Amino acid sequence: TKLTKEAIKTAVKDEGVNFLRVMFTDVFGMIKNVEIPVSELDTVLDDDLLFDGSSIDGFVRIEESDMYLYPDLDTFKILPDSMTGEHDGKVAMITANVYTSDRKPFEGDPRNNLIRVLTEMKKDGFSDFNVGTEPEFFLFKVGEDGKPTMKLNDNGGYFDLAPLDLGEHVRREIVLTLEQMGFEVEAAHHEVAPGQHEVDFRYADAVTAADHIQLFKLIVKTVARKYGYYATFMPKPIAGINGNGMHTNMSLSKDGKNVFDDPKDELGLSKTAYHFLAGILDHAQNFVAITNPTVNSFKRLTPGFEAPVYIAWSASNRSPMVRVPASRGASTRLELRMVDPTANPYLAFAVVLASGLDGIEKEITPEHSVDRNIFLMDASERKKAGIKDLPDTLLAAVENLETDDVITKAISKRIADTFVEAKKLEYQSYRASVSKWEIEQYLETF
Ligand code: GLU
Ligand code: MG
Ligand code: MG
Repeated sequence: TKLTKEAIKTAVKDEGVNFLRVMFTDVFGMIKNVEIPVSELDTVLDDDLLFDGSSIDGFVRIEESDMYLYPDLDTFKILPDSMTGEHDGKVAMITANVYTSDRKPFEGDPRNNLIRVLTEMKKDGFSDFNVGTEPEFFLFKVGEDGKPTMKLNDNGGYFDLAPLDLGEHVRREIVLTLEQMGFEVEAAHHEVAPGQHEVDFRYADAVTAADHIQLFKLIVKTVARKYGYYATFMPKPIAGINGNGMHTNMSLSKDGKNVFDDPKDELGLSKTAYHFLAGILDHAQNFVAITNPTVNSFKRLTPGFEAPVYIAWSASNRSPMVRVPASRGASTRLELRMVDPTANPYLAFAVVLASGLDGIEKEITPEHSVDRNIFLMDASERKKAGIKDLPDTLLAAVENLETDDVITKAISKRIADTFVEAKKLEYQSYRASVSKWEIEQYLETF
C-alpha cells in the first residue's frame, strides 16, 4: 500500500487526529520525535518541517543546525488508545528521513544511511534485504516513587502459562496494540528467564524492519507502564540468568525469489547464502560494536546463557553465532544470534548487509559448521576447529571497528567517527567506576 498525501489528510480529518508525531532515530539508536498540531500537517507533508539538529546526539554542530524532516508517507499510522494519554485525543505518527538545510539527505541520519547501503545492494543485482527480529525484554515492577525496581514481574520460564506468567495480560495488550498498528505478530511467549518475554513479528524489508523495532520498543514500554511494569531491553540486567537478545533473521531476494534457497544443496543453502554467511563470520569481530553497542552488551555475550561467544555457525545447534533455522523455500534464512536490542537497528542492518555482500563479492566460503556444543569445547579444540572469539569488551569491539573499511563505509565515515568517539568515552566512564563486585572481592582481602 502506497499512501498519498491526500489519503493521509483524509484519514486525519475522518479520525479527528489532533497531533502528529514525526519520528526519527539518532546515531545511538534513540527514537526522537517532533510533535506538531494538525494545523501544521501541510508543512510536514510538503517536506517543510524544520528542526534544530544541533541538539540531537551525534547529528550536527551549532553552525549547521537547521534540518528538515521528510516524512516517509507509507509509515503513517494512527496510534491506538493504548498508546495515548486519556486527554490527548487522537494522535498519529509518521517516520521521517533527515535532510540538510540545502535539502540533501543528511548522511549522519542512520535511516538515510541504511537506504544508501540498500541502493548499493541493488546495484549488485539483489532486490530486497529481508529481516525478521526476535527482540526480548524484561518486565520489572515499578515502585511507589514511579521508578523501576529490580523486582521481576513473575517467576515464569520458557513458554510458561499463568499463574506463573503474570506477564500474560500485558503481553496480550502489547500484541493487540502491535496489530492495531499494522504489525503481523507471529508469536508471543514467556522467555527462559523469570520476568523475560519475547514477541516475534513478521519479517520485512530492512528499512521497515528497523522502523518496526523502534516502534516496537516504544509500544512495549508504553503498554508496560500502563500495567505498572517497566520494560527494559537492556542486554543483561541481572547477572547469572539469561540476558536480552534480538536474534536477527536475514535473507536476500531477487525479483521476489529468496536467493539463499537451493534445494539441491545438502543443507538447502545456495552458494550466495554460503558467501553471505562467510562474510558475516569474517567481519563479526569488527561489527559487534554496532550490533552490541553498550558496556553491558558484553556481559550478555558470556558462556552459559544461550548467547553466542564464539564465531561459528551451525544448522543444528544453538550455541554458535549464526544458525540456519529449519525452514526452507521462501523462508530460508540465516539467524544471527549475537545482536541485542540496544543496537541501532538501521546501523546494525547496514553492517551485517555490507559484511554479507563483501562475502558474496569475494566469493569466500565459511569454515565447516560446528554441530556440537561449543561451550563444551576447550580453547585448544576451538582453535583446531578454527573458531575465533568475539571481543569481550566494548573497547576491544570499537577498536576492531576502526580497522575495518567495509564496516566504517557501511555506516559512513561521519557516523563511524561520531560513534567511535562516543563509545570510547562511554567505556572510559565505565572503567573509572568501581563496581559492587570489586568491593566484594577486594575491600576486605587487601
Ligand atoms: N535470551 C537468549 C540471548 O541472550 C536467547 C534465547 C533464545 O531465544 O534462544 O540471546
Ligand atoms: Mg528468544
Ligand atoms: Mg531465535
